Amino acid sequence: MNAISPLATLRTDLLIGGELSRGEGLVEAIIDPACGETLVEIAEASIDQVEAAIAAAQQAFPGWSRTTPAQRAQALLAIADCIERNADSLARLESLNCGKPLHLARQDDLTASVDVFRFFAGAVRCQQGQLAGEYVPGHTSLVRRDPLGVVASIAPWNYPLMMAAWKIAPALAAGNTLVFKPSEHTPLSILALAPLLAEILPPGVINILCGGGEGVGSQLVGHPKVRMVSLTGDIVTGQKVLQAAARTLKRTHLELGGKAPVIVCNDADLDAVVEGVRNYGYYNAGQDCTAACRIYAQAGIHDRLLARLGEAVSTLRFARKKDADNEMGPLISARQRDRVASFVERALGQPHIERVTGAAVHSGPGFYYQPTLLAGCKQSDEIVQREVFGPVVTVTRFDEPSQALDWANDSEYGLASSVWTQDLDKAMQIAARLQYGCTWINTHFMLTSEMPHGGLKRSGYGKDLSSDSLADYSVVRHIMARHGKELS
Ligand code: NAD
Repeated sequence: MNAISPLATLRTDLLIGGELSRGEGLVEAIIDPACGETLVEIAEASIDQVEAAIAAAQQAFPGWSRTTPAQRAQALLAIADCIERNADSLARLESLNCGKPLHLARQDDLTASVDVFRFFAGAVRCQQGQLAGEYVPGHTSLVRRDPLGVVASIAPWNYPLMMAAWKIAPALAAGNTLVFKPSEHTPLSILALAPLLAEILPPGVINILCGGGEGVGSQLVGHPKVRMVSLTGDIVTGQKVLQAAARTLKRTHLELGGKAPVIVCNDADLDAVVEGVRNYGYYNAGQDCTAACRIYAQAGIHDRLLARLGEAVSTLRFARKKDADNEMGPLISARQRDRVASFVERALGQPHIERVTGAAVHSGPGFYYQPTLLAGCKQSDEIVQREVFGPVVTVTRFDEPSQALDWANDSEYGLASSVWTQDLDKAMQIAARLQYGCTWINTHFMLTSEMPHGGLKRSGYGKDLSSDSLADYSVVRHIMARHGKELS
């Protein structure tokens, strides 16, 4: 192992009740997707350790839930500062574990994670609510917003630390205690943070467990003492979680897949569209639920867009030795790369679909797939309907905006969308009719901690980021006091 590797000092202990301890379950290899080699082996939590983590969170709940917003804000600010102080080494771990270019992990994932903790530290101190008052004569009603109890948070592998921030910050800010499970592919950054979190938070307020979905994940979801499950993952996983949570009637918060439509009208700024799709269709190798992956291009701009975009996409840099030269990393696993390849193979088996660029597994080491642009796609094609979660963008031609709108909405997904036109009237009308949690106008992909992020339809429900997320991690209660004797 390289002496300066962040793995040299990495602790891979679980955090349970404020104590760091080795996992006692199955040992799993954590793979570097940029070369396919094992980075480290980590023991998952055993059944008893999951039980202990839930018990610790339950025990910590009365104390943490009675802290003031100011006290919780102070803890969140300390976590933000701690991530910021360790940003370089955390970014290196994130880059190693996910294969993403280090400079992007440092500039994007780390900066965003710090900001999320700072945002919720502020938001929890200035929540708004209903007015207290006498809604029944002689009685004063007021509304409280209280935490739920133990929350199990289950994260995916595409942005490990940022997803952890999205889940941990609002849950703790709202006064819940937490058992957090990272993806079995990408536990390194949160494990590195675990000892530091243990110094900031009282024992049991946050517990961190490694493990797979069917084992540790489903034990958490099925546990009667867990009051809420927050999952970011696949639709099928969301369905399994819902079924399991139904048995104990838990609150669920589901952020599932996406297949973002990008409606490009004839009057769009072509340079901006090309730059936008090149950046936001392939960012994180397309492993992003909001990726700009499903283009509908109006007939008058279609051919020019295809020519320009094909050229631009073919210049995307990846698998280069020097980190700064890379714009894109590999897929997370050989399985995910092969899944992407088989989607493209099936698409190209259709006579009407044309390869503009890419469409092949990269020949060197690692799980890279070439940035791919496919044209001539029809609305009914699998490649247009299903989430690929890889560097693959399709283009479909349309004549009238109403047709593009129908096609954009003809999807089981409802997370993100964009419309590109220089006519604001048109943009606002299309945005109003799109059935997506977010619609961008003349951009794509931009998120900010202050604004809600979440889907409709099978993309799930529940909001991440913004004060809407604080609402999701808390419950409204009504307190009514009878006045008794009237004042004279
Ligand atoms: P996944 O569903 O395979 O896994 C997500 C998490 O769920 C992992 O931690 C996994 O261990 C756990 N899990 C799996 N089965 C489980 C079960 N039966 N019970 C409990 N937990 C279980 O998803 P992934 O492959 O890690 O991530 C990719 C998916 O996540 C894509 O579909 C993507 O669109 C989605 N995603 C959505 C958003 C969003 O904000 N909507 C953000 C990122 C990723």
